[in-house]
Parts: sequence; structure tokens; C-alpha cells
Amino acid sequence: KAKNSGRNKWLFYTPEMAQQMVQRREMEDSLREAIKLQQFCLVYQPRYDLNSSQIVAAEALIRWQHPQLGLLMPDQFITLAEETGLIASISEWVLKTACRDAQQSLEGLAVSVNISAVEFQSWGIVDRISDALRESQLDPGRLEIEVTENATLWDPENSLELMQALKNIGVRLLMDDFGTGYSSLSYLRNFPFDGIKLDKSFISGMPESESANTIVENIIGLGKAFSLSITAEGVETQGQLQKLKMLECDETQGYLISKPMSLETLKEKRAAIDAAAQQRLEEKT
Ligand code: C2E
Ligand code: MG
Ligand code: MG
Ligand code: MG
Repeated sequence: KAKNSGRNKWLFYTPEMAQQMVQRREMEDSLREAIKLQQFCLVYQPRYDLNSSQIVAAEALIRWQHPQLGLLMPDQFITLAEETGLIASISEWVLKTACRDAQQSLEGLAVSVNISAVEFQSWGIVDRISDALRESQLDPGRLEIEVTENATLWDPENSLELMQALKNIGVRLLMDDFGTGYSSLSYLRNFPFDGIKLDKSFISGMPESESANTIVENIIGLGKAFSLSITAEGVETQGQLQKLKMLECDETQGYLISKPMSLETLKEKRAAIDAAAQQRLEEKT
């Protein structure tokens, strides 16, 4: 069939490709519906301070309750949202919901929100963040924005200005998934980050792998030299927790302390999670 299709490029598309395009189009339509019908929800994962032995913040993580496909994870739709520009409306909802939840139900905790690197290309993100703060009346010092290092690479001057505007409002900035991109800590020093979140791929080799330990130790040391708070992501074992404490890592997040949970569950279990985590820290490996 494809042989005599030289003058008609259409026929080069295989049925699979055509089907993928249809699926993509359908997914885009249902993403638009999801925004209108508010089919998203947030779960929260505690972030734990190793010095005070307390939960200090909760990261908001989006889920999509799809009417046919069930519960979808961000990896299944965020890229499409970024490519179609729908991410701006999704972020608006996430920011408003997370700020309101923090103000109403998470006393004393910061809330952190993931913002896609593509959103750090335009000033709209500064409006969305200040709108959410104004509507919820949340103290700006309790809002943290997590961005990956890609956000700093595409248009460094513009993203630096946007980040400085956010710092002026009073929000904190965290570099997410540190170590998975191409920048170095000395490069990042030029941006007004308050902290870094060390990607879980570094933590997973700990404490058995000496090279993993050494890399993490060095990043923690450099981070401290630049006055950045260091969070280890994806902490799953007691051994990792003890090692990170030894290396003077500031904060941890991961399944060991707590999986992401609904707002109601977090409110209910907050004290119990604090107590259990404190006990883990005191235990010997
Ligand atoms: P992230 O910001 O690095 O979030 C951490 C991810 O690791 C979350 O996955 C979390 O559930 C998972 N995680 C936490 N502790 C552990 C652990 O101990 N072990 C393992 N294996 N995983 C752990 P999730 O919720 O699927 O989110 C994936 C990514 O999607 C996030 O990575 C973030 O980049 C993005 N994302 C989530 N919510 C939003 C959002 O509202 N907006 C945007 N733009 N991106 C979002
Ligand atoms: Mg994050
Ligand atoms: Mg991360
Ligand atoms: Mg990530």
C-alpha cells in the first residue's frame, strides 16, 4: 500500500500512527474536560526535618480521576498538558487548591507546589501564584515552588527575573530532582534558590554503594557552602535515613516516613507520623 504513495504523503502514516494521533487528540479533549469539570485532586507527601524531628512541609502532587481510565498519575498527562498549553489552567487550580488547603488545614506547615519548567518562560506564572496567595490569604512564606533545573537553562535571563519576582513576593524556591539535569551547583548559585531536592536516583544506592554515599556527601557539602537547604527525595529505608542524618542532610521525603495521602488523612495522621519518624531516627540500623 505504502509503495505507490509517493505523491500522497498521507499514506506514509501507518494505522498505528493514525491511531496514536486520534488517541492523543482524545486525550487532549478529555484533559480540557477535566479542567472544566475539576476531575483533579491533590495528595500531599510530608517532608521531614532531621534536626527538629518534625514534619515541616507537604508537597502537593496532582492526580486525575479520569471517568473511564481511572486514577491517572502525573507522568501520564503532565507532558501532554505542557505541550498543549493546558498546563497553565492546571497550575492555576493546583496553586489555588494547595494554598487554600494549607491555610485552612495545615497549620504551621509549608506547602510546596510543582511548577513545570515551561511555565517559567512567561510572566503568567507570577500572576497565578500571587492570585492564589491573595485568594487564600496564605502567608507567602509558607508557599514553596519546586522547579526542575531545566527551568533555568532555556532562557536563563528571563527565568531569573521571574524567580526574583517570586522571591520579592516572599515565596521560597526549591530546585527539584537535582542531579538529573545538566547544570552544576555553582551555576545554580546565580539563581535565588532556597533549597535543593536531591533526586531519588542518588538515594537509592545508599548506604551500600560507597560511590553513592560519596556523591551525596559532596552535594550536601556544596549545598551547605551555598546556604541551600538539602532535601533527600525517595528515602525508603532505615539505612538511608541513618546515613543521611550522619551526612547532615537537612530534610527527607519518601515512603519510609510517609507516602502521599489525602488532606484529611494527613491532618489526622500528622502527629502519629511525627512520632513514628522520631522513633526511627533514634533506632540503630
Ligand atoms: P517530584 O516532584 O519529584 O515528586 C516526587 C515523586 O516521587 C512523586 O511521584 C512521589 O509520589 C514519588 N515518591 C515519593 N517518595 C518516594 C519514594 O520513597 N520512592 C519512590 N519510588 N517514589 C517516591 P508522583 O506523584 O507520581 O509525581 C511525579 C512527578 O510529577 C513529580 O515529581 C512532579 O515532577 C510531577 N508533578 C506532580 N504534581 C504536579 C503538579 O501539580 N504540576 C506539575 N507541573 N507537575 C507535577
Ligand atoms: Mg517535586
Ligand atoms: Mg523530585
Ligand atoms: Mg520528578
